[in-house]
Amino acid sequence: MAPEQRDLVIVGGGPAGLTAGIYAARSRLDAVLLEAKPLTGGQIATTDIVENYPGFPEPLSGMELMDKMRRQAEHFGLEIATGDVTKVIPQDGKYLLECGKTSYLARAAIIATGTESRKLGVPGEDEYWGMGVTTCATCDGPLYRGKPVAVVGGGDSAVKEAVYLTGFASVVYIIHRRDKLRAEKVIQEQALCHWKIEVVWDTVVTEMLGSAEAGLTGLKLKNVKTQEESDLAVDCVFLYVGVTANTDLVRDLVELDDANLIVTDEEMRTSAPGIFAAGDCRSKAFKQVATAVGEGATASYSAQEYLTGGPYGGG
Ligand code: NAP
Repeated sequence: MAPEQRDLVIVGGGPAGLTAGIYAARSRLDAVLLEAKPLTGGQIATTDIVENYPGFPEPLSGMELMDKMRRQAEHFGLEIATGDVTKVIPQDGKYLLECGKTSYLARAAIIATGTESRKLGVPGEDEYWGMGVTTCATCDGPLYRGKPVAVVGGGDSAVKEAVYLTGFASVVYIIHRRDKLRAEKVIQEQALCHWKIEVVWDTVVTEMLGSAEAGLTGLKLKNVKTQEESDLAVDCVFLYVGVTANTDLVRDLVELDDANLIVTDEEMRTSAPGIFAAGDCRSKAFKQVATAVGEGATASYSAQEYLTGGPYGGG
């Protein structure tokens, strides 16, 4: 089937992609936003409470925030379609975005594909995946009311989700490989004084224990300072050990850093003319909804400049 032609294709329906879409639609660009699965809203949609996005003094869920962004984009006429882009291939000064049955030929593209949760790679993890091993507290937390659970990691996600899980679990163990948390101080304060949270410092998970009938029943732990091993009985473990970049689709096309994140300049231009990047899939220090939104707006502006031959487009 011949590819559909557009001036601009935005890949990814998280905060960066939707913001780029809002600006593209308001500029009346011939644009489409593609998302791998309908209505997903990116990683933030799995966050229970967003407290630090300006303009919302009453906390709202990640899903609610993304629903508002999507409705705003649709209000301005942005075309949103389902399409899992697997490769972006240069073709006669344009780009072919391969995504199953319907491919797109675009003059410019914005890559806003974000990241996905990393796994630990220990025995038992795959075996009990979805049976007590998960990366989504919002989805699975309510299933463990009155039960002991564990969270692995010491970053914003781990500590924030541990606090959220206290609303259901009898006890929440935060298992962290160091003696200091990486999370924002205000998030740490909420966790460290919570009576249901116990931090297991300097400790890693070496195995996930369970059975085919019961699913996960516990974790094998090792203290990295003393080398002491122990077992911890939990009904569910929530993994928040960082993320990997969803950048395979442009791996051979644009410059990536050591973590496979897309390198851009301040105008969100990548090393390939006409390809822009925004949000968590970009090489940068600070990954927040607030930063993703600004980058989405900038990428959209730069794409428009590129398409119309303006000075910031670099085209
Ligand atoms: P992150 O900041 O990369 O933290 C990952 C955590 O997992 C770190 O504490 C790390 O330990 C630990 N870890 C990594 N590999 C491990 C392994 N193999 N075994 C055990 N522990 C391991 O990831 P994140 O928390 O998902 O956050 C991603 C980005 O989103 C960050 O930029 C974060 O600020 C942002 N975010 C912000 C908010 C917010 O509300 N402000 C919420 C969620 C996420 P070390 O500390 O020892 O490296």
